[in-house]
Amino acid sequence: MNPARARWSGEPVGRDTCAFCGSREYAPVNIAGPRCLTGDFGLTTGRIENVACLRCGLSWNRAMLGERQYAEFYAGYEKKTTSQGEDDLLFQASGEPPVTLTADQVAFLGAHVEINGGGRILDVGCGKGAFLLAFLATSPGWTGFGIDPSASAAALARATGRIEVIEGMLESGGDFGVHFDAIAIMHVLEHLVDPAAAIDRLFDLLRPGGSLFVEVPNVLDPNMFYDLLLFEHAHHFNPDILSRMLRARGFEVGVVEPSTRYGALRIVAVRPDVARAPLPAYDAPPPDFGTWRRTWTRMTTAANETARLARTGRRVALFGAGMTAAALLAYTDLSDAPIIAFLDESRWKIGRTYFGHPIHSLDETDQLGIDLILVATMPASQDLVVSKLTDRFGASVDIQRLVDADGQHI
Ligand SMILES: [Zn+2]
Repeated sequence: MNPARARWSGEPVGRDTCAFCGSREYAPVNIAGPRCLTGDFGLTTGRIENVACLRCGLSWNRAMLGERQYAEFYAGYEKKTTSQGEDDLLFQASGEPPVTLTADQVAFLGAHVEINGGGRILDVGCGKGAFLLAFLATSPGWTGFGIDPSASAAALARATGRIEVIEGMLESGGDFGVHFDAIAIMHVLEHLVDPAAAIDRLFDLLRPGGSLFVEVPNVLDPNMFYDLLLFEHAHHFNPDILSRMLRARGFEVGVVEPSTRYGALRIVAVRPDVARAPLPAYDAPPPDFGTWRRTWTRMTTAANETARLARTGRRVALFGAGMTAAALLAYTDLSDAPIIAFLDESRWKIGRTYFGHPIHSLDETDQLGIDLILVATMPASQDLVVSKLTDRFGASVDIQRLVDADGQHI
C-alpha cells in the first residue's frame, strides 16, 4: 500500500469549543492516526481525535483543520470523477436491479418537497452534478445551481451545460445573487468547521418557504461506523442533534428519516414564511457510542484474523471495494497483508485497482485460486452477501464475516 502523506500544509487549527453551544466541556470518543483514511478512498498523515459535547451532544474532531487547510485538501479531492455516469450502488436483495444512490436521493426529495411549478435548486457540494442532472431530468421548470471545492468535479459539472457552477466552499464561495426555492446539501455538513454558521448561510440563501434537504452520516448507525474514522469528517451528527441545530437557527424541521439503507440521516426543513425567534439549544447528554465501539472492535478482530491467515498462505480476497474495506486497509493488519484481490459487482469498479490491489468480478474467483473471502461490506449487508457467496461457491471457499449474524455485537 502507498505510504500516507499530508495532503495539506501547516499545523491543524483544532477546535476546543462546541460549534453549536459554545461549551468547552467534552468527553473523548475515539482517536486515530497518524495514518488516516480519507473519503476519496485515500490516506493522509494526520490525526483524528473525536469528542462529544457534554452540554448539547454534538461530536467533533478536536484535531480538525482550519477552513483554508480543508480547502487545500479538497482542491485535490477526486472521487467518482473519472466518468459522468459513475455512481454508488445500493445493496439490493439477490436478483433485484441495482439502485443508484443518486436516484434514491432524487426520489426522496420528490416525495417530500413540493416540486411542481419549478424553481431554482442549489446543490451544495454538487460534485460532477449527478444529483442535479437527475433532478432536472424529472422536474420540469427547475434551474440547477451547484457549488463544489473540487476543481475536477466542478469542471465536470460545468461541462454538462445544464448547471451554473461556482468552484469553492459554502462559507466563502461566491454569491449567485438569487434566492433558492430548494437547497440540497448531502454529505457536506460533516465536513465543515462551523456547521452552525453554515446552517445560517443556508437559511439566508433560501427564500421564505423554501426547503432544505440535508443528508449526513448518522454517527449512531452501525452502517456508518466509518464516520468516526474519516479524516475530513470534522463533525458528527445524529437525528436529535441535527434537528435541534436546525430549529435553533430558525428552521422548521419536517421529515426526519434517521437511517437510509447505508446509514445516512435525512432531514427536510423549511425556512418559515414569517421569521420567528430561534429556539435555544437545550441540555442533552452526549450520544452513546457503545454500539460503535463494539462494532468496530468486532470488525477489527475479524480483519486481523484474516490478515493472519493470509500470511500463512491462504489465498484471501475481500468482497466489496468500498468504504468498509478502505477502513480495514487503513486501520487494521490488512494494511500490509498479502491479500490477492478485491471482488466486487459494480461495473465501475471491476478492472480497476483499490489500495494497490486488483478488483475482479466474482466470475474470476476460481481462476485466482481464492480460498477465503472476507465480506468487507457494511454490517446490514453481511447476511445478504454471505448468502450470495455461499450459494455461489458452496464449501469450495471459506467465507469470513465481519460482524455476527445478529448484527454487530461480540
Ligand atoms: Zn455543545
